[in-house]
Amino acid sequence: MSAAESGDVRAWEPAPRMRGFGPSIFSEMTQLAQGTGAINLGQGFPDTDGPDGLLKAAANAVGSGRNQYPPAAGLPELRAAVADHRTRHGLGPRYRPEDGEVVITTGATEAIAAAVLAFCGNGDRLLTFDPCYDSYAAVARLAGAELVPVPLAVDGDGFALDADALRAAAVSALARVLLLNTPHNPTGKVFTPAELADIADVCREHDLVVVTDEVYEHLVYDGRAYETIAGLPGMRERTVVISSAGKTFSVTGWKVGWACGPAKLINPLLSAKQFLTFGSGTPLQDAVARVLASSEDCDTWIRSLSCSLQRRRDLLREGLERAGLRTFRAEGGYFLQTDIRSWGYEDDVRFCRELPERAGVVAVPASAFYQGQDSPRWLARFAFCKREEVLREAVARLAGAADALGRNWPGVTPV
Ligand code: PMP
Ligand code: GLN
Repeated sequence: MSAAESGDVRAWEPAPRMRGFGPSIFSEMTQLAQGTGAINLGQGFPDTDGPDGLLKAAANAVGSGRNQYPPAAGLPELRAAVADHRTRHGLGPRYRPEDGEVVITTGATEAIAAAVLAFCGNGDRLLTFDPCYDSYAAVARLAGAELVPVPLAVDGDGFALDADALRAAAVSALARVLLLNTPHNPTGKVFTPAELADIADVCREHDLVVVTDEVYEHLVYDGRAYETIAGLPGMRERTVVISSAGKTFSVTGWKVGWACGPAKLINPLLSAKQFLTFGSGTPLQDAVARVLASSEDCDTWIRSLSCSLQRRRDLLREGLERAGLRTFRAEGGYFLQTDIRSWGYEDDVRFCRELPERAGVVAVPASAFYQGQDSPRWLARFAFCKREEVLREAVARLAGAADALGRNWPGVTPV
């Protein structure tokens, strides 16, 4: 007799692995913004469109009959364009699509899920840094794997790798995969070459597969050189690099992503992926292939996007600091983190729930990204991938709220 038949579990109850899977924090915060009319600096999506040529190419592809399934591995022209683009931009080793080293996925999200399902089974350990993007813990659970969060400790105005803690976590024979993310969401950290070298040492020593989520690879600021762990000695053969058109071309709703790596890693990933979606977005894949292949348009767009995001980061950072919210260094990506304690808050969820009422702005509680027990609850994440006028209005509102707090709340430093 099954558990459902015996009455221990009701048939319509979700499977135990689903426990705790509510609506994501991003959906919750976007809904809060929509319900209150507050400015949404929570969920990370741009409020302007991607390059014109890309949008027109997608419309043309829809109008010219590219509307049936793509191959499971993705359109060959997109796989080729991804490989060429990586080489042109010096994004690590060369990948050969003709040898099965590139697969197109439904966003980076599917690539991450397929990689975890492919390499982690029941009880295997999936190491990652804490905090981490919210899908990591969820897919580990779906795979039956144990997520081992290695803390990125607050270090001045940034977040630092603790290589000894990583080494200690990797010692277990059950450790199979390290899931790395750089530039990092939510901290804005870009792992330094020295940190990547330390991580690579640990992975080689303990024979780990590395899955590196690099969706913000082009969004790196202040002239920082970007490096991928896949390019370090001995790492190409054990690394899957994941990225996506969503961030690079400001089309987060398109969900065109990819995974590159040696065929021995990409084949199992593709086997898992074909039973998740098989394939998706043929006309969008066609359009992304065209823009990636037109090197001049593509490179001009990328340069101008990263310059403009750096400006917008500075605008938001200055505004948050003026409002008395200390910020952390955002070296790449879409987000800035702040210390909310100067506003009298110790609980980031309460801060974020009250912020629309107090300031007409929505942020995301950083605790949503933490897996460890003793993680900080005094960090909130703000997105700066919004138009300058929107950010200006947001910082004006935050300044107003800080003034009101300063008057009404003794102990809060007026700004
Ligand atoms: N990884 C990170 C670190 C992200 O921030 C995001 C989304 N913002 C994703 C993966 C998901 O990418 P996609 O939308 O291409 O699935
Ligand atoms: N990656 C986006 C963020 O961090 C959200 C993506 C999503 O809503 N799943 O805000």
